[in-house]
Amino acid sequence: MAPGAPIDVLVIGSGAAGLAAALSAERAGARVAIATKTTLQANNSSKAQGGIQAALGADDSPALHAEDVMRSSHDTADPGLVEVLTSEAPGAIAWLEELGCGFTRENGGYRLARCGGASRKRLLQVGDRTGHAITKALREGLEAGAATVSAHHRLTSLGQSGAGWRATFETPDGADEIDAATVVLASGGRCFAEAATRGELSTNHPNATGETTRIALDAGAAARDLDALQYHPNGGAWPATMQGYSIPETTRAYGAVLLNAEGEEFTDSLGPRDVVSQAIFDEVEAGRGTETEDGRPAVWLDTTRIAVDDAEVSLPYMLRRYRGAGIDPLAEPILTYPVLHYQNGGLVIDAHAETTLEGLYACGEIAGGTHGRNRMMGNSLLECVVFGRRAGTAASEKARG
Ligand SMILES: Cc1cc2nc3c(=O)[nH]c(=O)nc-3n(C[C@H](O)[C@H](O)[C@H](O)COP(=O)(O)OP(=O)(O)OC[C@H]3O[C@@H](n4cnc5c(N)ncnc54)[C@H](O)[C@@H]3O)c2cc1C
Repeated sequence: MAPGAPIDVLVIGSGAAGLAAALSAERAGARVAIATKTTLQANNSSKAQGGIQAALGADDSPALHAEDVMRSSHDTADPGLVEVLTSEAPGAIAWLEELGCGFTRENGGYRLARCGGASRKRLLQVGDRTGHAITKALREGLEAGAATVSAHHRLTSLGQSGAGWRATFETPDGADEIDAATVVLASGGRCFAEAATRGELSTNHPNATGETTRIALDAGAAARDLDALQYHPNGGAWPATMQGYSIPETTRAYGAVLLNAEGEEFTDSLGPRDVVSQAIFDEVEAGRGTETEDGRPAVWLDTTRIAVDDAEVSLPYMLRRYRGAGIDPLAEPILTYPVLHYQNGGLVIDAHAETTLEGLYACGEIAGGTHGRNRMMGNSLLECVVFGRRAGTAASEKARG
């Protein structure tokens, strides 16, 4: 991009949060540029399987959704952000549908599942490729517009410049700079890098390395709960080709239960994520777990309890992956162990996704507060869409005065 090009809103990252922000900024009238580390398609959002929460059931409400978020976070979430997340969830779903994302339906309504920590069935799905479907719809919406896309642009520094911001990138040709009135950081979390440091497995895409958070902190932004990393209770443990795969939580929503080596249920399989993961760690520590063929700790996930119809409609990708690896989860239980999955904390934002620095916004996994120290399944994709839309609109308004 030519130095000094008049950009109103520069979005960093092309996951669900960045795409939602860029599209919303453009629709609000801004000149938008989106810069991303590798390709537009390379991110965690596309890997998300299980679903996205929204209180759309007849017995549900945004207030109940908010209660569940607060309880699952052990009251560490920011109630103002939670109110925004849950009250705007139904509208976010309608927006995604307008963009062409077709959620799975049955009996004239949405097919809703109950996820861990939830008091109601609230999880919408697109089979078990929900993140793929959402990002595809957002990407197609963005590509139909006029936003400039700079792929293979890795943000290396960010500083205030004149009335706005200057972002510096490493590119295959060397370096690039983009000036913009406002910047939206949507570069995700750091669990891939963190797992590598710890010598552990992660569900995350290799681009989830978290350097943008460090860059924002260096620029003076505030962060919270950065130490609160989340283990997904059900990483694939065996066969080796499934290690690091996140077995969708919808397996448990549709009846799968966790069993120890003796075949005993040792925890509520639909508890909050941190509780279920800790129960697995404790069971193994107490010597009641089992081991994979390559000596890794594990417990059983009894997927044979899932009804065939539910599996075929809501878990087709998971079935294909396991069957391709030689195991039929509907005929035999599978081995599982918690795996590093999500950065709960992040940059401090207000209800319009603005960080503590004026004109610098953050949305999606890079932002903190919405989930406190323990996120519920299905609320991350939701956060990307709700706060991505808010960030894009607010950044556009600020840039255009
Ligand atoms: C396997 C898996 C399954 C999941 N399942 C679900 C689910 O069912 N429901 C749910 O709600 N959540 C789920 N999650 C969590 C959720 O998908 C993510 O937290 C969320 O999508 C993050 O979106 P994001 O846009 O913030 O970041 P990402 O989607 O990770 O996108 C970040 C973007 O920033 C780019 N980037 C990173 N660093 C830089 C840099 N320095 N410069 C430029 N660009 C950069 C990346 O390349 C990428 O494009 C799942 C996550 C995984 C990994």
